[in-house]
Amino acid sequence: MAGIRLNDDIRYLKGVGEKRAQLFHRLGVFTVRDLLYHLPRDYEDRSQVKMISSLADGETVCICATITQHVQSFRARRGMNITRTVVSDGSGMVKITWFQSPYIAARLHQGEEYVFYGKVVFRGAVAEMVNPLVDRADSKGKMTGRIVPVYPATAGLTQKNIREAVEYAIANLSEQMPQIVPEDVREKHGLLISSEAMRNIHLPSDFEMFHRARRSLVFEELLVLQLGISMMKEEKQKCTAQALADVKCVAEFAAGLPFELTKAQKRAINEICADLKKDIPMNRLVQGDVGSGKTAVAAAVMFAAAKCGFQSAMMAPTEILAEQHYRNLCELFRSWNIEVAFLSGGQKAKERTEMLERIRSGQASIVVGTHALLTDKVEFSSLVLSITDEQHRFGVRQRAGLSDKGLNVHTLVMTATPIPRTLSLILYGDLDISIIDERPPGRQPIDTLAVSDALRQRVHTFISKQVGEGRQVYIVCPLVEESEVMEAKSAVEYAEKLKNEIFPQLRVGVLHGRMKAKEKEAVMQEFSDGNIDILVTTTVVEVGVDVPNATVMVIENAERFGLSQLHQLRGRVGRGKHKSYCILFCNSRGEVAMERMKVMCETEDGFRIAEKDLELRGPGEFFGTRQHGLPEMKIANFFTDMEVLQETQTAAAELLESDAELSETKNKNLKNAVLREMERVGGRGILS
Ligand code: ADP
Ligand code: MG
Repeated sequence: MAGIRLNDDIRYLKGVGEKRAQLFHRLGVFTVRDLLYHLPRDYEDRSQVKMISSLADGETVCICATITQHVQSFRARRGMNITRTVVSDGSGMVKITWFQSPYIAARLHQGEEYVFYGKVVFRGAVAEMVNPLVDRADSKGKMTGRIVPVYPATAGLTQKNIREAVEYAIANLSEQMPQIVPEDVREKHGLLISSEAMRNIHLPSDFEMFHRARRSLVFEELLVLQLGISMMKEEKQKCTAQALADVKCVAEFAAGLPFELTKAQKRAINEICADLKKDIPMNRLVQGDVGSGKTAVAAAVMFAAAKCGFQSAMMAPTEILAEQHYRNLCELFRSWNIEVAFLSGGQKAKERTEMLERIRSGQASIVVGTHALLTDKVEFSSLVLSITDEQHRFGVRQRAGLSDKGLNVHTLVMTATPIPRTLSLILYGDLDISIIDERPPGRQPIDTLAVSDALRQRVHTFISKQVGEGRQVYIVCPLVEESEVMEAKSAVEYAEKLKNEIFPQLRVGVLHGRMKAKEKEAVMQEFSDGNIDILVTTTVVEVGVDVPNATVMVIENAERFGLSQLHQLRGRVGRGKHKSYCILFCNSRGEVAMERMKVMCETEDGFRIAEKDLELRGPGEFFGTRQHGLPEMKIANFFTDMEVLQETQTAAAELLESDAELSETKNKNLKNAVLREMERVGGRGILS
């Protein structure tokens, strides 16, 4: 067979064939290239051969030793086959036992030397290995004596199958892996050439080579991503956007608000307005803790756009939040004769058609909604500004869509979750950031208590007392597995129990993700109007909900939530002039749980809480795969490879400095990779 090429079908690889190819397909491996990019998830170090005299109890090692005793194989009780022998390397002896390996005895000969790899256990002074792997000492490491890759596998496909396929492919590849990182950059950053990196990521000669190989591949992957982002940003900067002629009118709007804007709110509004005056698209993130008043900032700038005769769209991650924004904005804009339209998935067809028409005709200047805003049916007449609220709840693609609606609209994203700078570059390109680091005046600190079940009775008394004083209460019901159906059931049952057994004299409502949009809306309206005393809810109230009269947030099973989520939930109270409380039921005595509760009781500072959350959960979890919106990478990890990420950010800038279009010959492979990457991460979307 002539050499193997990267694009060859996996099924033609020696030892694979039709049936095994099917199994490889399950792993996303269709071609030889895919196979090479099916990277080990771990490695076993079988490279270090140890002297028997230096072995420690419990370690997994290689020893090189001679069989000193006849290899015995026999049947024990219940048909169990046992093979036994003793080996020695001159420094000591090890007893070796294999279970259920009747054929192994025939391969082993007394007086000859072998390499054994396995876990050592001491019984008294006697070292033993059970079921070790074994190679002839002169066979030059098939299974032992080297670093062995461990691959993500699937039922029916063993590690051995995958290893052999990879080894065969690497040994017989007739073409080079394309060298994507240009030679000058590669040398400057001390990277291996691609083929070398690929070989050593699978079959590292030692751990140093493995680290170099990995770093080289991570560098390549992140460089390509960085360049894609930079080039998309560059393209966007060349675009023109509608400049707003008169942004000073925001002052009129501010004067009409029932409260004085905080300094931080004013600063954010000024920064946004300065962007909107320009004819290049704004790309800005507003970061402000829960309750810092981001909605008023958004409203002020949408007002400016409306006054200039253009449309704005504001997208929220949940129906409840979108609905609430809609109500608030209608209220705020009524006296200005500015029309607000609403779109959500749960809307009636008739209402929806009517809204769509008002958006298309330009009658509505402001459009609020869920990601229903993204469907093709929505046509704007003059969209200039797109705002995404609680950005951390959306993925990259969803964010992309809205700015595709109007060509080159100004983009504003708002979030309560602080994002490390290096990552914000990935998430939003090179965006500008406004920070609202101040809360509206008159807010009293929220008293937070972590309690166990023992205090339940007293908590109930406290709730009754607060309601007696005219206040309202949220109870976040016990968290059940990640299924909306189960969660809804639990909320409903819990509300029934509270209503019938504990607070029969109070008005108890329930809110969960499985309710129809109209039902949710109705419940939130009732709660907002003060017709519900206690709202039993799932985490659907986590983001954005604003009912200033609510003063108590009770969270059941608080130990099951992450810190940032607890902080968001707590942010639902303490929004008005009344003293507020957050009660965390926590029945776990675990260390991490206790630490979390302690942080919650000690601080209300969202930045500190986010930091602690990162520390206690680890970065991957913090950004949760479901909602982080970061692109999927083959090998790089945005959190643990932060240093390489920074290095590639600099390298990308330098490359573009000298060759903005990557059109030089030496950058050809790189450019092709970047173009493929731009397609993968969603076209120009990643920036929007
Ligand atoms: P978040 O930043 O969490 O989205 P909101 O925009 O929901 O915060 O605002 C929280 C509450 O604070 C709302 O009830 C809002 O009306 C009120 N608010 C906003 N800005 C001010 C201010 N400058 N002074 C007083 N109250 C304000
Ligand atoms: Mg908000």
